[in-house]
Amino acid sequence: MRAMLKGIAASDGIVCGQVYRLVEPNLTVQQRAITNLDYELNRFHQALEAAVSDVETIKTRATKNLGTDSAQVFSAHIAMLQDPELITAVETQIRQRKINAEAALAAVARTYETSFQGLTDNPYMQERITDLHDVTKRVTAHLLQVALPDLALVNHPVIVVTHDLIPSDTVSVNPRYILGFVTDLGGRTSHSSILARSMAIPAVVGTQHATDQLTNGEMVILNGTRGQVMVAPDDDELASAQAAMHERAANLKRLSKLRHHGTVSKDGVGVTLAANIGTANDLPSVLQNGAEAVGLMRTEFLYMDADQLPSEDEQFAIYKQVLTAMAPRPVVIRTLDIGGDKPLPYLKQKPETNPFMGARAIRQSLTHQQIFRSQLRALLRASAFGNLRIMFPMIATLDEFRQAKAIYDDERSKLTVAQVPLGSIKIGMMVEVPAAALLADRFAQEVDFMSIGTNDLIGYTMAADRTNQDVAYLYQPYHPAIFRLVNRVIAAAHGAGIPVAMCGEMAGDPIAVPLLLGMGLDEFSMGAGSILKTRRLIGQLSAHDLQALVETTLNQASTSQEVITMVQAAVPGILT
Ligand code: PEP
Ligand code: MG
Repeated sequence: MRAMLKGIAASDGIVCGQVYRLVEPNLTVQQRAITNLDYELNRFHQALEAAVSDVETIKTRATKNLGTDSAQVFSAHIAMLQDPELITAVETQIRQRKINAEAALAAVARTYETSFQGLTDNPYMQERITDLHDVTKRVTAHLLQVALPDLALVNHPVIVVTHDLIPSDTVSVNPRYILGFVTDLGGRTSHSSILARSMAIPAVVGTQHATDQLTNGEMVILNGTRGQVMVAPDDDELASAQAAMHERAANLKRLSKLRHHGTVSKDGVGVTLAANIGTANDLPSVLQNGAEAVGLMRTEFLYMDADQLPSEDEQFAIYKQVLTAMAPRPVVIRTLDIGGDKPLPYLKQKPETNPFMGARAIRQSLTHQQIFRSQLRALLRASAFGNLRIMFPMIATLDEFRQAKAIYDDERSKLTVAQVPLGSIKIGMMVEVPAAALLADRFAQEVDFMSIGTNDLIGYTMAADRTNQDVAYLYQPYHPAIFRLVNRVIAAAHGAGIPVAMCGEMAGDPIAVPLLLGMGLDEFSMGAGSILKTRRLIGQLSAHDLQALVETTLNQASTSQEVITMVQAAVPGILT
């Protein structure tokens, strides 16, 4: 029996390949006395050259994926690696103190940092400190002869094993070389999983110990549908995994025929299938999978990817890129949803006993209005380039929505006075707090659209933190209470004549889709990899017939299992 790591099925698909550990190595530097000066100086220069060559490779990949502007940081790193002042300072340390190159470099880095201190309010200096850290780390790794993993340096297909996946890990990657992701941390709705799904790459998260248990180059089979990682498979196991991969590829090929089709049920009811994205990097996958819209762009990844707030212009460029690529299709961009499981270290938020119930999302935006206004201005300016809808997250009270909308109106009028070209924008809200779901009829009078965020709605309704494994058994997407709330929101939106979408994970879940279609949901927004499967499923369902299933489920189901059984009875073979 092979060793098997168990985790959470985060992104569908089965793949086999070699492990690439994306884990920070130990770079502790010991000071040593040296006798051969020339040898040490030479060692230092070789490490510098190797570091420049790494950064050149990373820069080329980042330029290709993200454009010249975003790759500028790597030019700054190269400039620093070639900075005569820095180089001379390290050489002087080596010569005068007769110490090894890595200790000399560490000493110089400390001196620089001390001289930068006191300037921490200056964003330029903060950036230089970060550059210095990155550059020192890279040169030290070469001196210590330990590999510093970086996905941009990967040049053959691998399965990436890491503690937790963050957006910046994925930006410079060549997607062709990433077969799958395995992480120690995370749940199905954590940002690692969301990233993997938006890139349509199979993933298993929350294994707890994958980075300890797997070694570089080891062969594994990753099953993202079952949440399993088989270690060192034998020939038979590899052969059956490969057969499963081929079957999946053939299935995807069949599905790809639906790419340019609309989404229509068997009895002719049209709905919109949209994609959830984290960054502009996800766009190729969105278009390949035939998304009819972007139903949710989670802008927090732009903020989490940086070590300081992105400027209005930086944001504008990214929003414009997404809107232009999708035009004339609609793009729903959600204003910043930080807090909860998405903290922003550089904002220095106060520690909270219960972050999911704390200063999150719109609550943060209303307190830090400068950040909110800058985001709204970037969005407004970008609106001229496509079909923009702005959505506020975590709205709990009407007052919050009104305040957010008033700030938006204020920024809009200022830009209008300044004659900045603006598009027509719809303003909506996420329904992810039970209070908003229960009061949806009132909200529906004031918003242009609603989007149901089941990831949080489930957590808040069941009082189960979506990232806490100990209460995962309570995090029940199919609980009848959830469907009652969802049905209520859909009915309220339609009662007021506004469209209603769902952008929580449930929108692409085959058990939930028949119920949502029967309830009349207008738009289903999901990770790009689920779109074509959902389009095929909806094409096999009759929306009208499903109303009976909705009635029975809402009136008779008392448990999640009963809901599942009812759906399976109404739609035989739904899970196959
Ligand atoms: C949700 O809560 O369903 C949602 C889509 O938002 P997030 O997962 O980013 O909290
Ligand atoms: Mg949410």
